[in-house]
Amino acid sequence: MNLKDYIASVADFPKEGILFRDITPLMLNGKAYKYASDEFTTFAKEQEATLIVGPEARGFIFGCPVSVNLGIGFAPVRKPGKLPREAQSVTYDLEYGTNTLSIHKDAIKKGDRVLIIDDLLATGGTVEATISLVESLGGIVVGLAFLIELEELNGRDKIKQYPVKALMKY
Ligand code: IMP
Repeated sequence: MNLKDYIASVADFPKEGILFRDITPLMLNGKAYKYASDEFTTFAKEQEATLIVGPEARGFIFGCPVSVNLGIGFAPVRKPGKLPREAQSVTYDLEYGTNTLSIHKDAIKKGDRVLIIDDLLATGGTVEATISLVESLGGIVVGLAFLIELEELNGRDKIKQYPVKALMKY
């Protein structure tokens, strides 16, 4: 299956000069969505993951089916002010400004084998921050999986020591 058939490329969104890769047509096609979820599930099995972690919001869309397929947990990584209980937070630099991500402290147990899943790898800032949250709570990051990797942004340079699976590259 050619998954790229189900990605819409939108010029100048959310701001001028950005070519946004819209994954919603893929979710809308049940066969393509299942195909992508199955690919991630196979990778999770290979890495012997015991927990899936996904950053909001599109990391939920691709992470949760893997958790359900394997009968393992899913822990959400969220923007500030969304998690109701004690959370661990990390702040990282963006091109302009900073961003903060949080996870519930009890979401990760020491020794958990964590696969991080998100829709897209761009600069790698989001996944790097997510890795640091997982590791600071004693989790072992056994892999990183993305639907799309934007190669020219060199996000891979930030995650060289981890097994990475990207279903599409642009
Ligand atoms: P990074 O932190 O620069 O690697 O950006 C990755 C994050 O930004 C992911 O959580 C994506 O959901 C989001 N993102 C960046 N560019 C796009 C895009 O073109 N389409 C969809 N999501 C994007």
